[in-house]
Amino acid sequence: MQIPRLHPDTVEEVKQRADIYDVVSEYVVLRKRGKDYVGLCPFHDEKSPSFTVVPTKQMYYCFGCQAAGNSIKFMMDLQKRSFSEVVLDLARRYQISVKTLAPEQRQELERQISLREQLHQVLALSAQFYQHALKNSGGGALDYLQNKRKLSPEIIQQFGLGYAPQGWETLYRYLVEDKHYPVQLIEKAGLIKPRKEGSGYYDVFRDRIIIPIRDVMGRVIAFGGRTMGDEQPKYLNSPETELFSKGKNLFALDAAKNGISQFDSVVVVEGYFDAIALHAAGINNAVASLGTALSIEQVKLALRYTESKQLVLNFDADKAGTNAAERAIGEIADLAYRGEVQLKILNIPDGKDADEYLHTHSSQEYQQLLAQAPLWLNWQIEQTIKDKDLKQAVDYQQASQQIVKLLKNIVNTDTRSYYVTYCAEILSLGNVQLVPLRIENLLTQINKSANSAPNKSIINRASTPNNNKETDKSKPRIEKSLLEKAEGLVLQIFLHCPGQRQNIVDIIDKRDLQFSHSHHRFLWQKILRVLEETSDEYNSAVISKLQDACLENPEETAPVTHLFHLTPQTKSEILRAQQVIKAAIACMEIAMCEKHVQHYKELWQSIDPEVDRSRHEYYFQKYFEERMKLGELEKQRQFSILDL
Ligand SMILES: [Zn+2]
Repeated sequence: MQIPRLHPDTVEEVKQRADIYDVVSEYVVLRKRGKDYVGLCPFHDEKSPSFTVVPTKQMYYCFGCQAAGNSIKFMMDLQKRSFSEVVLDLARRYQISVKTLAPEQRQELERQISLREQLHQVLALSAQFYQHALKNSGGGALDYLQNKRKLSPEIIQQFGLGYAPQGWETLYRYLVEDKHYPVQLIEKAGLIKPRKEGSGYYDVFRDRIIIPIRDVMGRVIAFGGRTMGDEQPKYLNSPETELFSKGKNLFALDAAKNGISQFDSVVVVEGYFDAIALHAAGINNAVASLGTALSIEQVKLALRYTESKQLVLNFDADKAGTNAAERAIGEIADLAYRGEVQLKILNIPDGKDADEYLHTHSSQEYQQLLAQAPLWLNWQIEQTIKDKDLKQAVDYQQASQQIVKLLKNIVNTDTRSYYVTYCAEILSLGNVQLVPLRIENLLTQINKSANSAPNKSIINRASTPNNNKETDKSKPRIEKSLLEKAEGLVLQIFLHCPGQRQNIVDIIDKRDLQFSHSHHRFLWQKILRVLEETSDEYNSAVISKLQDACLENPEETAPVTHLFHLTPQTKSEILRAQQVIKAAIACMEIAMCEKHVQHYKELWQSIDPEVDRSRHEYYFQKYFEERMKLGELEKQRQFSILDL
């Protein structure tokens, strides 16, 4: 259909109604920051959020790529669609009547809008019909809900549960003959189907408990039907319609959205009755995934209402449930790796589902299970090793490969190093002495993987990115030129910034640091000697004494004489001496620690444990300590000398 020119009134009303948060949060996971929201920009690739939504101005903008605009602009840019297309789409969504400048096109558009309204009507009426049928079901269906499902009349009422009678055409007759709705409309609502043979239609739902599926505003958009016995299929959903799409809706979200913001977390279960049972038990932040693997759209939908983005998947602990959980994780793993969702997995003991569990346990007990639910990575690791005998080489290898696959995608370095140690402990099977070796292996494999998450720290920026060799043997992480610059800066600040002299001496002494470049080392030794001779380190005589010493040893000191002269750059560095010292010292410390790692590794590997076990273990221990220290130093690094 050709898009007509829209009346300015319509455009204005769309602008008013299409809330920027509402529109954007369907595509971007947003977190509250002050009055605004932030998230990862959908228009450029980024690791930390610079995309900001400002509800008070109904605007978004990105500090990274300068994208900016209102709801309409957002949809236009994201979906590469025209202004009119987006306005029409939003008008449909917010049920705004469309006025166009060309009257003949107006009718067609109004027809489209009204189709959705009519579908809502017919579905609402059907829901009432089913509820009425439940009360008049002669006990069978009501008995099932009250006694088998243990649901109170209030909950049955709250969720609008109903019953589809046994006959083939009961709903059909009610809607067509009593209420005079057009057959096509009822078919479009997914309530009836044409008979395969002959003419006429039959009801989609027959002799089933009816569970209305509502959109977030509480309007019925589809139904779920459950048999009361064991007939197959146990569950039947409305087909996809103009209003209903399985992967884009969550059951009970309308009832749960307040609970989700209250608990600041959302519980996702598999079945309708699990969600209903949870609500009945006062756990009103539960939604159900409508019998499909959880999709990313569904997750984003649920996360809109939680600030800390906590999501607990409570799927059945049986094979099917585990598979569903794994599929769901697959969909949302990217969000989880980036920390955009705090994903936990709850498996109820004895393979029960939430509904069964609550028949015999209290709401508090379920809450407790929720609180203890493992983070998804722990759960995944658990699944990886569950049926494996790690003493067997094949199983061990498989497990460790799968673990590496899991760990290499973790973006946050702290989280990653935590999990490396955690997994190394598991793979060591209780043998504490093996842990360091396992850590080493895991780190090596993770680093090998080309896919490893980029890291902004100085260490990685300074090294060659496509360096695939084993970490320890690889090129030093701090490049020689960078280290030289760092050492030079420390010396320069010492020379030109008397107030920092004692500080520098103390740090170098305390951390047992050495200058790696021989000319720097030479100058530092001279400095220490001069300081011994003078009682006043602020004295300007320090410099002249050092210069004398340099004159005596022209060969050794030629490469450092430039340090005595103040350049405009040196001057600016002196202005922020504290930061410069911190960054430069960290650089030296890492370089030194790396040397130690290498040194102890060589010693450890050169000694045959059969010949000298205690020395072998001693060097290993040393090697391990340094290796851990290196990890710590990398973690602690807050800013880089390259930024100075
Ligand atoms: Zn951007």
